[in-house]
Amino acid sequence: MAEGLKWLQCPVCKKTISWKVPEEALKKVTRFPVAIVVKHEDHYLVCYVDSHLQLADTEVAVTYVEGKSKDDE
Ligand SMILES: [Zn+2]
Repeated sequence: MAEGLKWLQCPVCKKTISWKVPEEALKKVTRFPVAIVVKHEDHYLVCYVDSHLQLADTEVAVTYVEGKSKDDE
């Protein structure tokens, strides 16, 4: 098991960034993959993490707002 620190090359600015997997928050998660939004400078990366806390996929978002589905109300 990794110590929680992940490295990846930012697809936007090509810098290598490190980010910490929020392991405490993930303990409450029962279904995977989980999307974790990582802010990097002025853009955001959406990192999908599987049940082994391995990076499964990465998407790029230039901006980010919190969304809420009707069912959650
Ligand atoms: Zn970046």
